[in-house]
Amino acid sequence: MTDPTILWLRRDLRLADQAALAAAAHEGPVIPVYILDDETPRHRAMGGASRWWLHHSLAALDEALRAKGSRLILRRGGAAATLAALAEETGATRVHCLRHYEPWWRNAERAVAKRLDLVCHDGNYLAPPGSITTGGGAPYKIYTPFWRALQQHMPPPVPRAAPRDIPVPAHWPSSDSLGDWGLLPTRPDWAKGFADDWTPGEAHAHRRLAAFSDDVGAYAETRNLPSVEGSSRLSPHLHFGELSPAQIWHAVGDQPQVFLGEIGWRDYAQNVILQLPEYAAKNGRAAFDAMPWREGSEAHADLRAWQRGRTGYPIVDAGMRQLWTTGWMHNRVRMVAASFLIKHLLIDWREGERWFWDCLVDADYGNNSVNWQWTAGSGIDSNMFPRIMAPLVQSPKFDAGDYIRRWVPELAGIGDTAIHDPEASGCRPKDYPAKLIGHREARERALAAYAQTK
Ligand code: FAD
Repeated sequence: MTDPTILWLRRDLRLADQAALAAAAHEGPVIPVYILDDETPRHRAMGGASRWWLHHSLAALDEALRAKGSRLILRRGGAAATLAALAEETGATRVHCLRHYEPWWRNAERAVAKRLDLVCHDGNYLAPPGSITTGGGAPYKIYTPFWRALQQHMPPPVPRAAPRDIPVPAHWPSSDSLGDWGLLPTRPDWAKGFADDWTPGEAHAHRRLAAFSDDVGAYAETRNLPSVEGSSRLSPHLHFGELSPAQIWHAVGDQPQVFLGEIGWRDYAQNVILQLPEYAAKNGRAAFDAMPWREGSEAHADLRAWQRGRTGYPIVDAGMRQLWTTGWMHNRVRMVAASFLIKHLLIDWREGERWFWDCLVDADYGNNSVNWQWTAGSGIDSNMFPRIMAPLVQSPKFDAGDYIRRWVPELAGIGDTAIHDPEASGCRPKDYPAKLIGHREARERALAAYAQTK
């Protein structure tokens, strides 16, 4: 019998359109392994909401593998040492994986390649990050020309089906038990509401994609309305690789340009972290290093109020509470809430990046850092800092009344006009906080601080 090969899984937890699985299965017996790697140094440990998702996604993947007579092996430790030990135990010499672009995964791939025959495949992006370059061969820094160039390479390859059979080894190596990894929160179980909104795993990702494909025509109009379920909500499925972007493209076709452009942002973000691996920690524009962010106990109290959804700005508070309760926040509200932290509260965008990283089920190194830096104005392609979003203008503009009623129950009894600013309308309930700072005062403070970066 031929030696087994190892399939090393990370953020590619699917069987269909999985080039590494296809290649491994083609060669002979396959040992699929997921390694909980708390040892390879990374910018920050995996966030709590991500760990909840991971637990359920791994359980779903194991079930899907078992339906094909295979199984998922779980191991814990540094990726290179753990894979080397597994290879030694099983007689495997080759490892197949999908290429990842987070700096710690690139380091891990280099370390594995020193010890084993590592074959990296593409498949988590529309085009391999780094492959879309200017005529002169340079990587793009700005989204719009990047997207224009990427479209020249579209559509992506037609996705392949899951292998019908996955050859199994003569002996299975031992596996950790998923429950022992403690990925789920217990005391307190802050994720108890997550299952109302989410079902991790490949099968459900496809159900969601199928349902969204029927509605994609309305996306351009409804995606900005937080009260409506107008976007795909595929982000955690995409982050964990339960679905490939090629599968999405071929399901919706090349007509819904606005939607496909968002999938393009995801590719763009990987393109940025490939050029600037420390993007979650370092300003894209060095001038921002001089920004006098607020620090100290008052700023800390404001940060806590923002995290808990108690800023006195209903649209911001609704978003922050949706995030805490469900592990997700509507994109328009992410922009408003992030801008509020950075510009109204003058708190370093990295504090927001850190909170989102812990709370989002779709927390993604590239997408999170690129969007925070875009909002802050500190990024290589970003919004202008002095363009300060007014939450009280955004809130009625995007018809957030029902959204606020849902997430800020103290305000549920307030009518459509007053709900966006109950304080100014004289109907602020006692249990809802006054604004941390007024818009005009905040704007002046932010612009004065910004002037110091010049
Ligand atoms: P849809 O609108 O249906 O879009 C489809 C897919 O395109 C998404 O699932 C996502 O994979 C991708 N996408 C959409 N918008 C963006 C964007 N602006 N940048 C990159 N990819 C995008 N998205 C994450 O996946 N992970 C993050 O950690 C993350 N952090 C963010 C932080 C801030 C401050 C902001 C403003 C945005 C952030 N986003 C992040 C982008 C965006 O808010 C989410 O991808 C989107 O809300 C997910 O919902 P959806 O799947 O319904 O999106």
